[in-house]
Amino acid sequence: MQVEGPIPELYVTSSQVPEGAPVVLAGSLESVSGGIVVTATVTAPYVGVCRRCLSTATGSMEAQVVELITDDPDPDTGYVIEGGKLDLLALAHDACILELPLAPICREDCAGLCPVCGANLNLEHCSCTLPVDPRWAGLAHLYQEELKEDLAGEPVDARPEEEDLQGQEP
Ligand SMILES: [Zn+2]
Ligand SMILES: [Zn+2]
Repeated sequence: MQVEGPIPELYVTSSQVPEGAPVVLAGSLESVSGGIVVTATVTAPYVGVCRRCLSTATGSMEAQVVELITDDPDPDTGYVIEGGKLDLLALAHDACILELPLAPICREDCAGLCPVCGANLNLEHCSCTLPVDPRWAGLAHLYQEELKEDLAGEPVDARPEEEDLQGQEP
């Protein structure tokens, strides 16, 4: 069994199935005592806003559905067999809502936006340096002290020679 068609108003906060895009529900209906078991895969394309760089993120979602539907409306989903008819649209709708990504990304390695200047780091490089978290400022200071010590102790190179000379003395 396969049915397909657009489902209006399929969206979550940061992604949606484009208006008019086909949602496909493919699977089987099995008659059991007291109802029908729907086992199906629901697939649909989606568009959203990349959570890292805020540009468009597109992809396709796939949801697995297994539902027993009876003459009594399901208290959670409201699914029901009425007049011998089963509302697969409601089923496909809910499956999509559950599966639509809440934090889509445009691509796996999206570099995101610079937190300082907002440049899209996928498209350009900026020369911002990240401000030092005040809680780490003390450590940065220590690090700089160490650097100074290294510089101050530069004549270190000469020392081994001295030792060598001393070692040669009888
Ligand atoms: Zn992105
Ligand atoms: Zn920047």
